[in-house]
Amino acid sequence: MSISLKPGVVTGKEYLSLVRACKEGGYALPAVNVTGTNTLNAVLEAAAANKSDVVIQLSNGGAEFYAGKGFPDSLQAKIMGAVAAAHHVHLLAEHYGVCVVLHTDHANKKLIPWVEGMLDHGEAYYKKHGRPLFSSHMVDLSEEPLEENLSECARLLKRMAAIDMSIEIELGCTGGEEDGVGSDDIDNSRLYTQPEDVLRAYDVLSPIGNFSVAASFGNVHGVYAPGNVQLRPDILKNSQDLVAKEKALGKNPLDLVFHGGSGSEKSKIDESLTYGVFKMNIDTDTQFAFAHAIGDYVKEHPVAFAHQIDPDSGKPYKKEYDPRTWLRVGEKGMIERLGEAFADLKSAGKSVASPVAGSKAA
Ligand SMILES: [Zn+2]
Repeated sequence: MSISLKPGVVTGKEYLSLVRACKEGGYALPAVNVTGTNTLNAVLEAAAANKSDVVIQLSNGGAEFYAGKGFPDSLQAKIMGAVAAAHHVHLLAEHYGVCVVLHTDHANKKLIPWVEGMLDHGEAYYKKHGRPLFSSHMVDLSEEPLEENLSECARLLKRMAAIDMSIEIELGCTGGEEDGVGSDDIDNSRLYTQPEDVLRAYDVLSPIGNFSVAASFGNVHGVYAPGNVQLRPDILKNSQDLVAKEKALGKNPLDLVFHGGSGSEKSKIDESLTYGVFKMNIDTDTQFAFAHAIGDYVKEHPVAFAHQIDPDSGKPYKKEYDPRTWLRVGEKGMIERLGEAFADLKSAGKSVASPVAGSKAA
């Protein structure tokens, strides 16, 4: 069944129908971490060019950077930066003609005040506009004992559900720098989510509101030399099957999220798409694409980055060092890499956004 949604930020029921369209269509949306208007606009442009819907997300560090590293208070910067980025997306996304899920990434126990600060803004926005500022927030308490993880997520989901928001939780532990699990000393049982834990999460959270699960199936944040961790998408299938059986639900009842997808084998990505993964986070690879393109540009124009006017020829370099020139080169590098992500996740050409009418109608 095909659906059609108004382009722009999707929340509440529209968000749920987009997630369903992804799972039924066997594709997932790239969830791209952004840190400012360059990376954010690059995601919108790439989504439009590939006719795909997309998830735009901010980490706490990305949000802080968005507000400015000189912002006087770090927690306020994380809150205000995320809010500023959200307003930017609400204003611009619909003009790109695609649907955008607006999300924030990992918040561990220390970062709960960040989530609560964003929810204060989200509730005020909801009062005024009848819809939330964000589609969802992630709360990652996977380092805490399971019951503590779930009861805290339940408490926050109550606030979110009241304003048509969803929560993303994490069960198990995705390896990598962010989680303090490197390529060496890996405790394997922690890297694979237990289906019983997912069932418990379903029991606690589904009566309150919508939730998605970042499950660990050997995925690692960042890019590491291969061979240390075995990616096992069957872990996802086991969780789906257990919840479907115990709760008498249809196939793939859970909305699953793939963290640490950078550098994963394509066949494992394909397999995970058949198990109800609707979102795959991408950060490391798009960061590198942005930097690599600018690196090449600087190598090609070394004099322009050292002199305003060529010391030998007298040629002015204003056009070359104008930030618009080389930041645009970075955007293009990121857009090209995202094209690959839309293809890998099979979301290209599948935007559910209805054609834009109104502002640009002839
Ligand atoms: Zn993650």
